[in-house]
Amino acid sequence: MSSDPNNRQKILDDFLTWVRQNETAGMEWFLDEESGAAVQPQPAGEDPFDEICRQFVAQTLPLIENQPARPDADPAGLDKAAALATLRNEVLPCTACALHQSRKSVVFGSGSANAEVVFVGEAPGRDEDIQGEPFVGRSGQLLTKILEAIGYGRDEVFICNILKCRPPNNRDPQPAEVTACEPHLKQQLAILNPRAICCLGRVAAQTLLGTDASLKRLRETVHFYEGIPVMATYHPAALLRNPSWKRETWNDVRKLKALVDTLNAEEN
Ligand code: URA
Repeated sequence: MSSDPNNRQKILDDFLTWVRQNETAGMEWFLDEESGAAVQPQPAGEDPFDEICRQFVAQTLPLIENQPARPDADPAGLDKAAALATLRNEVLPCTACALHQSRKSVVFGSGSANAEVVFVGEAPGRDEDIQGEPFVGRSGQLLTKILEAIGYGRDEVFICNILKCRPPNNRDPQPAEVTACEPHLKQQLAILNPRAICCLGRVAAQTLLGTDASLKRLRETVHFYEGIPVMATYHPAALLRNPSWKRETWNDVRKLKALVDTLNAEEN
């Protein structure tokens, strides 16, 4: 990784300028649909959060550099799309836990095999179980807006869940289900080897990171999974219930994107 501070500064400034230029699109999902409140125009000039983004990136890069080398990551010549397709075929008939008895679909995940960010949710809900795709219901529509607000189309990232099958009545995943399903996620992440992982909600973050820390604590800092930086933010379903958390989510994903843009630039 190069560490030219001028280049790093330019990349970050470009991203923050882009955010400013796309403010309206980015702000749209702050609208409280219930109250129909109008999006408030942002004052011109530097957003105080820009500096927080810069500090976050500056503090996180050395942590990434200090991660142990991963000699097995990104083996030369790996066709990620083909490897994911093979894995998908292996996962679809899974009967490793009791959820296979009630599911309609195995929701493997979707998006780009070359995604720079993987978004990990909890488990498929009713709509996802019916359609076989992750995050297609109401919370999925909000996730799409969150992604668009930082400049990603759904097909540019990879979206998946801790569990690939729907728990009855959307209850929390049970430990035995997580244990049975974990190898699938591990293999997905090993193939994708993204620049960063974003956990959506407490269950995804706690499970992936193997901790019982609160989401509030987990959101405060960057974590690592097999050397890959992991950030946590609110689950879109929680934002539908608590729209006032959208501002914090917007801040989380801006930090995430600022980090990924910087990593991309330093690699090139
Ligand atoms: N909630 C999740 O955690 N995942 C989905 O795919 C849909 C809703």
